[in-house]
Amino acid sequence: MVVNQEELLREQLKETFGFSNFRGNQAEIIKNIMSGRNTFVLMPTGAGKSLCYQLPAIIQEGTAIVISPLIALMKNQVDQLNAFGINAQFLNSTLNKTEIKRVKKETLAGEIKLLYVAPESLTKEENVAFLSQAKISFVAIDEAHCISEWGHDFRPEYRRIKSIVEQLGSIPVIALTATATPKVQLDIQKNLQMEDADVFKSSFNRQNLYYEIRPKVDVKKQLIRFVKEHKNKSGVIYCLSRKKVEEIAELLKVNDINAAPYHAGLDASVRMKNQDDFLNEDVDVIVATIAFGMGIDKPDVRFVIHYDTPKSLEGYYQETGRAGRDGLEGKCIMFYSLDDIIKLEKFNKDKPVTERENAKLLLEEMSSYAESSVCRRRQLLHYFGEEYTDSDCTDKGLCDNCSHPKELFEGQEFIKHAIDIALKTEERFGIKHIVDVARGIESQYVKSYDHNTLDVFGVGSSETEVFWRSVVRQTLINEFLEKDIENIGVLKVTAKGHDFLNTPYSIELSKDHDYMVEELESKEEPAGKAHDAELFELLKNLRKKVAKQKNLPPYVIFQDPSLEEMATTYPTSNEDLAQINGVGMGKVMKFGKPFIDLISTYVSDNDLTTASDVVIKSAVNKSKIKIFLIQQIDRKVDLEEIAEIKNMSFDKVLDEIEHICFSGTKLNLDYYIDSFIDEDRQDDLLDYFLTADTDDLEVAMDELEDDGYSEDEVRLMRIKFISEYAN
Ligand code: ADP
Ligand code: MG
Ligand code: ZN
Repeated sequence: MVVNQEELLREQLKETFGFSNFRGNQAEIIKNIMSGRNTFVLMPTGAGKSLCYQLPAIIQEGTAIVISPLIALMKNQVDQLNAFGINAQFLNSTLNKTEIKRVKKETLAGEIKLLYVAPESLTKEENVAFLSQAKISFVAIDEAHCISEWGHDFRPEYRRIKSIVEQLGSIPVIALTATATPKVQLDIQKNLQMEDADVFKSSFNRQNLYYEIRPKVDVKKQLIRFVKEHKNKSGVIYCLSRKKVEEIAELLKVNDINAAPYHAGLDASVRMKNQDDFLNEDVDVIVATIAFGMGIDKPDVRFVIHYDTPKSLEGYYQETGRAGRDGLEGKCIMFYSLDDIIKLEKFNKDKPVTERENAKLLLEEMSSYAESSVCRRRQLLHYFGEEYTDSDCTDKGLCDNCSHPKELFEGQEFIKHAIDIALKTEERFGIKHIVDVARGIESQYVKSYDHNTLDVFGVGSSETEVFWRSVVRQTLINEFLEKDIENIGVLKVTAKGHDFLNTPYSIELSKDHDYMVEELESKEEPAGKAHDAELFELLKNLRKKVAKQKNLPPYVIFQDPSLEEMATTYPTSNEDLAQINGVGMGKVMKFGKPFIDLISTYVSDNDLTTASDVVIKSAVNKSKIKIFLIQQIDRKVDLEEIAEIKNMSFDKVLDEIEHICFSGTKLNLDYYIDSFIDEDRQDDLLDYFLTADTDDLEVAMDELEDDGYSEDEVRLMRIKFISEYAN
């Protein structure tokens, strides 16, 4: 009988969708919901969750209600089903009265097999009344993690689903999600009152994905280099803001990369076009906010880059999951910086208290993940409640921590202490408390519980907080401790932890990354891309010579960072030279020739290929405000007036002007300066800059402040000086 049913299902699968076999647990899941059991499905993105409710809906009598959070996704699925000749419809705010009437009529007549409903529409009274008259086969709740405020897409309306479904009678429910920590799983089941449900969970491991975290320094250069090394391959770059999306898409475009932006602020038609272009391979790289990707099924995305540090591991995992769906290469690179985390924390400050606390915990998980040197795969899977014991990642170097392992140290004693402290504080505290006790910190909590009198108090007082946090986290990943899912943040000792205390054994731990130090190291010795020290010396000597000839301080010709960049990218034409930071066409014309000659000779003498592909062309100069300023200054508009028009402070206007000027554009501010600073003072200030060793503002103010010069005066004259002598 059972065999028969499975065969029957397979026939249906072939007939309706044209697929020959079920994937993973699909058949079991379908049988389960068809037998009227509540069903809970956890499957990674792209595994084929939709089919688990589509096929039984088609086979069974009546209409299945599908609750899905995104109207765009709904439409997409309905279109696909209609194309297969199945009567599926949706009920949401985009329909007009006549359409709603028709959908209701067809539902009541039992003609519709799948009715997609937005949670907002489901909770409307008139819809509840109508649905309770219809014959409903079952209710499917897609993206079920939206029900939990501990997930990454919390939708308050999802919380009301259960009470509505109850009003419709006793109907089986199937809930599906691609990301859920154990805590979120419990939340979903509790909220839907389906603790009794049969749970079908597939492994979340994506064997073909490579995970890497990089410190967020020189990020634009890193980004361009990476994308150029993956020429003609499809990739997605996620940024946190629309503004950043625009900026990065522009940056890629001026660097000859076929890229397009995607975010909710774009016109729907533009958004659609960019998405289609990406799917059709007219565009290689899509730069997007997290609005992009849900339900998009492009199999050959070869890389996913997180330009900004994401808000949660759930979101991150979901987004990286869009790489390599075809089972081939998929690189997932995330740029991490503590600044980003702090910025994200600030965004949360206006949220209600619990939401803010949750968001904070999610961010803490994010930092821990980034800073840990434990296998990324092991950490990610652990986060989603799965223990990764394979040696595959280590053997094949499928994450940065496995391919460049940090030094290990013997962790037995530390782990013992961590478990011991958790026990002696009665398994009622979180990581911070355990760390405080280990280090012997008399915090308010520690004192109020008298934990400073425990024998374990201060057992690890010679180690830092960072060290201990890392130890406790690794005690968790090794499953000696576990998070209490009822009480967020509280750590309990597992059976494995108790065993370990009784019979401890050797276990290796690794120290966290210290990105501050790693950044410094990488600055001192950038892997393979260091500037050419020999050429740099030659360039400096040339600069000295030219400066002497022109009777100018050397820094006016080119500044050190510009020379370093030349010694990295070997510009041998006017255009290439103008791309160097701090060098504009004006400077190229004025001083460029001998430098280009020197570099050209050097390049041919040493048989070098000019690495023009690592020249990062900057799109920044083109920003709207800068163009606006240049135009206004051309028209001799007062700077105060400009500040007022743009609603900027005078300081900010000067900042922008300096930026324009220091990147090599000549500006004539005489009309303004002459009305503001008298001639003698102008001469004095020019003299100062002509003889100074540096154009540093602080140094200048130290020298000039006592003579009564204001910072505005000095800044204005510095702009004039650079414009006249350097640009
Ligand atoms: P999920 O919702 O789990 O992210 P989808 O339901 O969107 O994934 O399915 C992903 C892709 O897998 C779709 O293109 C779908 O047609 C395909 N698919 C699903 N089940 C099967 C199957 N049994 N055989 C072949 N392809 C399948
Ligand atoms: Mg889906
Ligand atoms: Zn690994």
